[in-house]
Amino acid sequence: MEVQTKTERKYEEVFVTHLSNGEKLTLPIHTITGAQPGPILGISAAIHGDEIIGTEIIRRVYDQIDESNLSGTVLLLPIANPLAFESVSRNTPMDMNNLNRLFPGTEKGWISEVLANSITKNFLDKVEYYIDLHAGGAVPIVDYVYIQNDESLSRAFNFPLLYRPSNPYEGTTATYTMSKGIPSITVEVGGGPNFEKDIERGVQGIINSMKHLKMIPGTPVKKEDQTVLTEIKLIRPEHGGLLVPAYDFDYVGKEIVGKQVLAKIYNPKTFELVETIETPFERNVIVQMRGLLATINPGDYSFMIGNLDTAEPNK
Ligand SMILES: [Zn+2]
Repeated sequence: MEVQTKTERKYEEVFVTHLSNGEKLTLPIHTITGAQPGPILGISAAIHGDEIIGTEIIRRVYDQIDESNLSGTVLLLPIANPLAFESVSRNTPMDMNNLNRLFPGTEKGWISEVLANSITKNFLDKVEYYIDLHAGGAVPIVDYVYIQNDESLSRAFNFPLLYRPSNPYEGTTATYTMSKGIPSITVEVGGGPNFEKDIERGVQGIINSMKHLKMIPGTPVKKEDQTVLTEIKLIRPEHGGLLVPAYDFDYVGKEIVGKQVLAKIYNPKTFELVETIETPFERNVIVQMRGLLATINPGDYSFMIGNLDTAEPNK
């Protein structure tokens, strides 16, 4: 006999602290309880405040879930950093910290550390599976899924490019959940103009992952031709200026053979060419790119290029 539980949709704004203007900083958390027992899946977005596409992906997932055929519970944190979201910036404007390097946070410290502590206690500590949505930010588009501690879950997101990093970042939400043995995936999807197709691919990735976890009915779609990269070159320019790309956003995920110009950076005052950005490998795949005219500062993430020659053989 199947155990039935009472379905419920609950929304809370969990108090974190007061801001200087007296406003409350809160964490928005939706809890959807399904009709059948099952695992607790947590999904978060916008821990970097300029990665707004993840928030829209979560909003659509919220609409698509039918709790009457849901097994388990879904916790949704659509805006992990409300302060950075308000200013559409990667880092928290008050202390300029990157929230996703501070986990598990501290009770007393910078506002970002206190926020990290609250996310840990009120969200991460309650989940049994974890999906964190990231994006390229306001200008670039990015497209890959990290393989962390559950390769099958990373593959179930069904993106063509996967990445097995040899030196993962420290202090991320997933660093913390993995330290507790929670199967975790970090997804990099879209950004820039936030195309409809990228929003929908994010939604479908989550739905397929939930089928894989048997939280919703249906056979998960299995993508056969996924490439696992082991080497991604992050290209950060030495000079700022106006970046004029050589390729448009259609090239995300495409292969580029040999040494090719990806973009040129011009001094907007003198029109002098200050830097040329080129592909680093013999067989390049564009993982993250800028596909429209934009300003760029020295050190910004301009392009991320995967090396197809060192990719793992398909299985
Ligand atoms: Zn991010």
